Amino acid sequence: MIKKVSIWNPTARPLSNWKRQRLVRANNFPISYAITSREISKSQSDRLVRALKLLPERVTSLLSSKNNTILICKKLRDVFKYLPSSWEFSVGIHDPSNHTIGVAEEYLDMFSRQITKDTSPEKSLCHEIGHAFDFELDRPSEKGEFMELVKLDAYDPTKINKIGRFKVQSTEPKEIFAEIFADIMLVRNAYITQSDLLDSFPQAAKFIEDLIDEKSSMQHDVMTKQLLAWLP
Ligand SMILES: [Zn+2]
Repeated sequence: MIKKVSIWNPTARPLSNWKRQRLVRANNFPISYAITSREISKSQSDRLVRALKLLPERVTSLLSSKNNTILICKKLRDVFKYLPSSWEFSVGIHDPSNHTIGVAEEYLDMFSRQITKDTSPEKSLCHEIGHAFDFELDRPSEKGEFMELVKLDAYDPTKINKIGRFKVQSTEPKEIFAEIFADIMLVRNAYITQSDLLDSFPQAAKFIEDLIDEKSSMQHDVMTKQLLAWLP
């Protein structure tokens, strides 16, 4: 239950000033978040807040230490006014320049051109949280090792037919990172029981899990380098 809801009027205050306003900090939850409109259905905002509170402590403490803010919107462009109209098709945003995450209840469906309710808001939230986690850790997705693991996973001939969701060479590392991060969260919190993505990218998923659980990656690095040395 949200105790206090702050309403941001974006025409009155730019985003940079929004953070100075009082945001929801119910039950000492470390990350500032706000339900930005009374139009959002209670069921949707409840689902998002619940998913937010199930995030691991490592993630919430990192995001909180970097002053991240999460804005739960009816539509993204209601709140993120500066986004071009192509963002009508999106349900989530991570804006690194503002350390801000937005998730929306509704988006414009690209195919039907209908306003559509997001039926998996937890997934959308965790994908954007994945971007923020990656960014605040100084982008491990772009340091090379992560994509080496993605490629090792993808090009294993026993798994090549299971990739489906990604064409590895044409997808940005940060998107692959965020998507795998989201599935790790969904499985851990029992939103889903099984993930094709985690099954298809076990080493890349382990890399992200170790970051979440703060396990030393030393042994992992050594083994990966040895393995890579054998590849043509
Ligand atoms: Zn993304």
